[in-house]
Amino acid sequence: MRAYSGADAVRIVCSREGRGPRTVIVAAHPDDETVGAGSRFRYFRDPVFVHVTDGAPRAMHDALAAGFSTREEYGQARRRELHEALRLVSVSPAQCIGLGIADQEASFALPLVARAVRDLLKRTMPGIVLTHSYEGGHPDHDAAAFGVHAACRMLEQEGIVPPPLVEYALYRADRTQGGKMAVFEFLPHAGCGEMTVALNREESALKRGMLRCFPTQKRVLGAFPVSVEKFRPAPQYVFTRPPHEGTLYYENFDWGVYGEQWRDLAGEALEELGILRGVPAGRAGGEGGEKWD
Ligand SMILES: [Zn+2]
Repeated sequence: MRAYSGADAVRIVCSREGRGPRTVIVAAHPDDETVGAGSRFRYFRDPVFVHVTDGAPRAMHDALAAGFSTREEYGQARRRELHEALRLVSVSPAQCIGLGIADQEASFALPLVARAVRDLLKRTMPGIVLTHSYEGGHPDHDAAAFGVHAACRMLEQEGIVPPPLVEYALYRADRTQGGKMAVFEFLPHAGCGEMTVALNREESALKRGMLRCFPTQKRVLGAFPVSVEKFRPAPQYVFTRPPHEGTLYYENFDWGVYGEQWRDLAGEALEELGILRGVPAGRAGGEGGEKWD
């Protein structure tokens, strides 16, 4: 794997030249990738998409509201929607891998996610990995971020230089607005300069078309702009600490787990995976930031 800096990787993700290396995109739910970065995929060479969950919670209200009577049917519908959206950017279903975890349960399978991502990175040797920011918006989003960061740490421990991590922000609590949802707003991290892509007319139209491929998610997708996307090099997160002070966005809902338990699960996963304390010098995934616990 060629070692780009995190800043180089962000510039490549934002570029329209289409000359970047292979990119692996890791998302929690089928649609997160499109919301966060959908306008960029047409420029990626031979991308691979990994979805941690199947998008179908065991609690049935989302499935029933969307007109499905079983969790499986709802999950299959969400996968079909994903394939249709990605077909618009010439990505085939063969380029999509689902880990098959139930929606809202990724936090309980962190070691599995990390090992699956590590194995996939070894197999596909991408130059860049694009994934979620650790922001407390949804526990599965944070679990996907954890899995990618932990996979890179495991590669390092095997003597393999991991690809740089680029992240997109989706949503989180905005403490300055009484905990309301902030969309596409990264939590501040020193040394992780973000880049904003202003989508041109063609990209906006394409992204709108991709988002229309997810009718089961229509209710929520309207909250996201189709005029910009934001990217930055992933900081070195301490997943055993909260992403920010105060109530996390997902703690306002019954989405399977609250923050304190999530962080306990992260700590247990780090231990199970044998991820050492501290960060080796020269880690490619981001600049600055804090050490892992
Ligand atoms: Zn999501």
